[in-house]
Amino acid sequence: MDRQIRSRKRSSDFDAVVIGGGFFGCKLALYLKEEFDRVLILERELDLLQRASYANQARVHNGYHYPRSLLTALRSRANFPRFVREYRECIDSSFEKYYAISKLFSKVNVRQFELFCQRVGIPLKPAPPQVQKLFNSQAIEGVFQTQEYAFDSTKLKKRIWQDLTKAEIKVGLNSQAIRVRESHDQNISVYYLSKNNIKKIKTKYVFNCTYASLDQILKQSNLPTVPLKYELAEMALVEVPPLLKNKGITVMCGPFFSLMPFPPRGLHTLSHVRYTPHYYWQETADLSVRSHEAYSQISRKTNYPFAIRDAARYLPIVRDCQYVDSLWEVKTVLPQSETDDSRPILFQQNPKLTNFYSVLGGKIDNIYDLAHELDTLLNKQELEVDGDRRLFRVSRGSSKR
Ligand SMILES: Cc1cc2nc3c(=O)[nH]c(=O)nc-3n(C[C@H](O)[C@H](O)[C@H](O)COP(=O)(O)OP(=O)(O)OC[C@H]3O[C@@H](n4cnc5c(N)ncnc54)[C@H](O)[C@@H]3O)c2cc1C
Repeated sequence: MDRQIRSRKRSSDFDAVVIGGGFFGCKLALYLKEEFDRVLILERELDLLQRASYANQARVHNGYHYPRSLLTALRSRANFPRFVREYRECIDSSFEKYYAISKLFSKVNVRQFELFCQRVGIPLKPAPPQVQKLFNSQAIEGVFQTQEYAFDSTKLKKRIWQDLTKAEIKVGLNSQAIRVRESHDQNISVYYLSKNNIKKIKTKYVFNCTYASLDQILKQSNLPTVPLKYELAEMALVEVPPLLKNKGITVMCGPFFSLMPFPPRGLHTLSHVRYTPHYYWQETADLSVRSHEAYSQISRKTNYPFAIRDAARYLPIVRDCQYVDSLWEVKTVLPQSETDDSRPILFQQNPKLTNFYSVLGGKIDNIYDLAHELDTLLNKQELEVDGDRRLFRVSRGSSKR
């Protein structure tokens, strides 16, 4: 009875709408469902986790990658076991992971890398001689065995679908959000395109989790944008020679490369700091950001021959890799990451539209930092839901609003 009266009073269709059904949007929707009854995900593709959450290097970061950003390294170290535990069935831990330090052009040397790993508390030991021998000793100062895994984004998608279904979260596929607007009753109207029709729904909160399209939605809504840096990134998919089959290799820390297992295809990705990015662009006042258009229109001639030639200077055996094809995605990072390669999370309330939030996760395990941000938001804000003014409670996970 009480519930019926409450639902009649409701002036919105949903409590929260998440735009973008990548890993971040889906995971955020699951967190939100612990607080709200009516949560909707709008995704423009025909399935979830089709974009950056699929086309990436699949590394579950454990900190090694970030000797220039201690905070990111420590957050990775903390999130790694949690992620591996929570998504056990989506993790490939069957390979050995080696980090090598270049003698030339590297921003760290062996001693610094050892000290860094010690400080962060991540396991590091010299690689066995048969692995050391694979590297060019004139170019490489040291090779270490580390603990780092890969995730299988196809399995992650399956798991996310199960979790969303269980939580009874509504998902609108093939639904492209166009813009948002504050409505008179203090809700937000979300306009989206579905089957060639423009539709409108009302909601209390909107979370923009569209990664490379974050600014596009803001621009189309006449809202202040977030300064972001975009790059069209190519990761080559290769068949590695037998000696590299059960290995992942990263040469640190500068204009080098990584070879990582890519579980969904049973291949390896080859990324190279110099050759993976094809184009860069940044949001400016006069440039209308259209990352998805850039993604589909820009020429995609592979840089693989350059990347493999350079990689072979450090690890000659990579010459025996067979190129299969490439993954392409618009990598989106905060400008502050330029200097130290850090990967903080963006969780930003829009200055002109209070209940509209922009969310960007620099790497997959940052979802736990996202949970923290959401807790902070819900704890500190006095929010109005369907006419009931109340304080949000202190921890997520018990009763609903
Ligand atoms: C080349 C590359 C390599 C990377 N390597 C790693 C790595 O090894 N390890 C790691 O942890 N992280 C890595 N990352 C980062 C990681 O991929 C991202 O942090 C993560 O996938 C972001 O998830 P997301 O859900 O925010 O983005 P996405 O998965 O891109 O999700 C955004 C979704 O929004 C949808 N969308 C866009 N516009 C609209 C709209 N108007 N309406 C509705 N839906 C819309 C898109 O279709 C998409 O599904 C890499 C990224 C790139 C690009």
